[in-house]
Amino acid sequence: MATLQSYGAAEVVTGSCHLLQLQNGINILVDCGMFQGEVEERNHNPFGFDPADVDFLLITHGHLDHVGRIPKLVKEGFKGTIITHRSTMDLAEVIMLDSAHLMKEGYKTRYRKAQRRGEEEKVRKPLYTENDVRTVYHCPMIFASYDEPIDLGHGIFVNFKNAGHILDSAIIQVIFEEDGAKKTVVFSGDLGNDDDLVMPSPDIIEEADVLFIESTYGDRNHKGVKESDLELQHVIQKTFMNNGNVLIPSFAIERTQEILCMLKQMYNRGELPVCQIFLDSPMAIRATDIYKRYHEELSECCNEFLERDGTIFDFPYLYYTSRVQDSMKINDEDSHCIIIAGAGMCNGGRILQHFKHRLWNEKNALVFVGYQVQGTLGRKIVDGAKKINVYGEEVIVKAEVHTINGFSAHADQNGLIEWMSKFTKLDKIFLIHGERDKQEIFQKEIERRLHKKAHIVKHGEKIGI
Ligand code: ZN
Repeated sequence: MATLQSYGAAEVVTGSCHLLQLQNGINILVDCGMFQGEVEERNHNPFGFDPADVDFLLITHGHLDHVGRIPKLVKEGFKGTIITHRSTMDLAEVIMLDSAHLMKEGYKTRYRKAQRRGEEEKVRKPLYTENDVRTVYHCPMIFASYDEPIDLGHGIFVNFKNAGHILDSAIIQVIFEEDGAKKTVVFSGDLGNDDDLVMPSPDIIEEADVLFIESTYGDRNHKGVKESDLELQHVIQKTFMNNGNVLIPSFAIERTQEILCMLKQMYNRGELPVCQIFLDSPMAIRATDIYKRYHEELSECCNEFLERDGTIFDFPYLYYTSRVQDSMKINDEDSHCIIIAGAGMCNGGRILQHFKHRLWNEKNALVFVGYQVQGTLGRKIVDGAKKINVYGEEVIVKAEVHTINGFSAHADQNGLIEWMSKFTKLDKIFLIHGERDKQEIFQKEIERRLHKKAHIVKHGEKIGI
């Protein structure tokens, strides 16, 4: 019998890594992501399997928690073929290079400090370097297109369906034969929403024997995009009336593009006060360029913008501040600015500079538009921290803190259940990519509404499918 073992994103939301071992000896890894937040230490642990034994690596999408350990996988012996969309590898390159850079900088700082104590040999080396990232691109690759099944030989086919989560994100179907019978295993990847501004709705799948489904928001429902639009507009207007500025920590991929689209719509409707919007994140700027390049995969809304304005995301109030000196100049602006900067969970990046300059001042507003993982600075602020530490300096949190969760690129409980309800055949359901307490709520809801049992996958547990 084929088996699956989870080596990441079991009872947590990061580190996605699932090994499917088929009876005929073929090993398929689905995603190889980075652990983040309070579980990030796990990145340094062995994978739990031999990377040299993996024949195929399927990648659902280019977020760090789905691609971030690929350089480690290659460094430790992976010789197989990577299968994913071309754009996913483009986004992954931006993400992995940034990750390698941050690890290098962190290492340099820790090394300097340890030198003063004479303990430099105790400092752990980064997980991988920028060169290791480049090596990934020497692996054999097959680029997928939606709904064009790829023959892996040995009677195995993989098919990518649109997950509507980020650019070219995929639900992956793995179809194989076992004991003369055809079996279909579906990995939901991260599932998007039906009312996303930038992405088309997730594809409906009707048939599967086994489903591995994400459960990030299995415990709750979000507000819709329209309500979020109004909430954001309200925060902007109120903050500008107080002569303040709006800070938005944002993930480089998807959330940033979604916020830009929403602000552009507000501008087009004449509802955005005159202001300066700074996209102050080199990584988000690069990701936005990749979105522009693959625009035909984006929503109708984006393509209408392109047709009418000749550009998807740009409008007169928006400035891209890639260069450090341009970023520094933002500090001179007194009011009426919207600053969008990384990192999305505030565990690094330029948003910290803006915290130092503006978080202590009650005239400003801080708007969270994405999930804040446990153990991150963002989560601390969301949970009500009155003081934070930025580069060793204490900063009080006086700015008004808002969380607008309608921007989530993940389906909520209703979205997940509705998507699951379209399956006409589904024998086994496994929950992955969610925090345990949320998964338990989701598990009960699946039983209540779909009359099906779902199993919460544990790290390393061997599951017969
Ligand atoms: Zn994702």
